[in-house]
Amino acid sequence: MTGTLWVAIAVLGIGAALFVYRAILGVETYFGYRGKRLVTCPETHKAEAVDIAAGKAAANAFLSEPTLRLKQCSRWPERQDCGQECLQQIEADPENCLVWNIVSQWYEGKKCVICHKTFGKLHHLDHAPGLLDPDHKTVEWRELRPEQLPEVFATHRPVCWDCHVTEMFRRLYPELVVEREPEPKRIRC
Ligand SMILES: [Zn+2]
Repeated sequence: MTGTLWVAIAVLGIGAALFVYRAILGVETYFGYRGKRLVTCPETHKAEAVDIAAGKAAANAFLSEPTLRLKQCSRWPERQDCGQECLQQIEADPENCLVWNIVSQWYEGKKCVICHKTFGKLHHLDHAPGLLDPDHKTVEWRELRPEQLPEVFATHRPVCWDCHVTEMFRRLYPELVVEREPEPKRIRC
């Protein structure tokens, strides 16, 4: 084998390693920045829900440096031309801005106000728990707009999915619900 061939193989090897390294960076960037996030809008100082253009950030990470831009914001389309200064909050702490993590942290350790079951971490495959509003109506947290959640968490109380479904059934079909007093324990002779 000639020296030139060895050089060519070495160059190809380095090129392939660099390609794999950049591809891993791109994939990590994509998974790290996808998902709905909550930020405090620098203009209104209110919570807004945003999505990062994770695909673009991944492509940029593959080619050079990941640059973040928004793909969606709850203030769009009215403020689509804003400077996107809220991106600094996401860059500083991408995990804690994720709506899923915010919701999971809020529920974790709390008890359902109806059955007193303690909530653990939320799992994507589980039924979504609910919230009890001040008028004693329950709602699934996913039915609310993400940017509403910080205010809702201040006024609503946690309800597990089972109790939410029971309460919803009671509200929708009151004629089918029979309230029974708990039976006294039977005494065996
Ligand atoms: Zn419950």
